[in-house]
Amino acid sequence: AGAPDGTPAPIVGAGAAVPLPALARQSAARGLGGLEWAVGIPGSVGGAVRMNAGGHGGDIAACIESATVFDLRTGRSGVRGPDDLALGYRTSAVGPDDVVVGARLRCAAVDPDRARSELDAVVAWRRENQPGGQNAGSVFANPSGPAGPSGEEPGAGALIDGLGLKGHRLGTAHVSEVHANFIVADPDGSADDVAELIDFLADRVLAATGTRLRVEVRRVGFGAGDG
Ligand SMILES: Cc1cc2nc3c(=O)[nH]c(=O)nc-3n(C[C@H](O)[C@H](O)[C@H](O)COP(=O)(O)OP(=O)(O)OC[C@H]3O[C@@H](n4cnc5c(N)ncnc54)[C@H](O)[C@@H]3O)c2cc1C
Repeated sequence: AGAPDGTPAPIVGAGAAVPLPALARQSAARGLGGLEWAVGIPGSVGGAVRMNAGGHGGDIAACIESATVFDLRTGRSGVRGPDDLALGYRTSAVGPDDVVVGARLRCAAVDPDRARSELDAVVAWRRENQPGGQNAGSVFANPSGPAGPSGEEPGAGALIDGLGLKGHRLGTAHVSEVHANFIVADPDGSADDVAELIDFLADRVLAATGTRLRVEVRRVGFGAGDG
């Protein structure tokens, strides 16, 4: 979609390795808005396409024009549009043999000062509502879909919190006191403890509420649960 007068939306092209916070800030500084939601997500453009990263009411699906994907099976790269990418809530059709090498994202012309205020608001919200320390972001997808702009909808964190599990510790990992959908690992923490705590929380929520939580983080090196 472009401007109401029919002017096409400006496009930002970014390589897959570009960090999302840099993408959001550099676009906003040039008067290219619509990516402010990404400023607090510590990931890359490539990972964001694969995961359909999002927050604060925005996500990759809402702004992607196309992605260039290198197929490890064929050794060829091609341009994929939104239909091929099939972006869902933290899911996509980008598979384990696909390497996203870049993306073209639709923006909207904005006043850079206004965009900067929006960036500041997103950063402030995250500082207040999400933990620091060693964590992998939201552990579980929210059962009812993405949270809205202020993230106030009850989600996976509320279900875990409702069982009194904030602060619950398993070895070197514990459920954040700030937000129950985050697991914080000790500085010398082990991935096994984090993985065990994830399974424990999913089991407890299933037993208590009947809700089967979907793990949002991608686990590597754990066999069947790898994603
Ligand atoms: C503190 C914290 C907060 C977070 N907040 C959010 C949030 O608000 N919203 C959100 O959506 N996510 C959030 N995340 C999760 C994560 O940062 C995002 O999903 C991010 O977009 C993933 O990018 P990455 O480069 O870190 O990918 P990784 O986490 O390294 O990988 C994620 C998946 O993408 C694949 N992948 C990575 N790069 C490519 C590529 N170039 N081509 C193909 N596949 C690739 C990996 O194989 C893996 O399956 C958060 C994480 C942390 C640690």
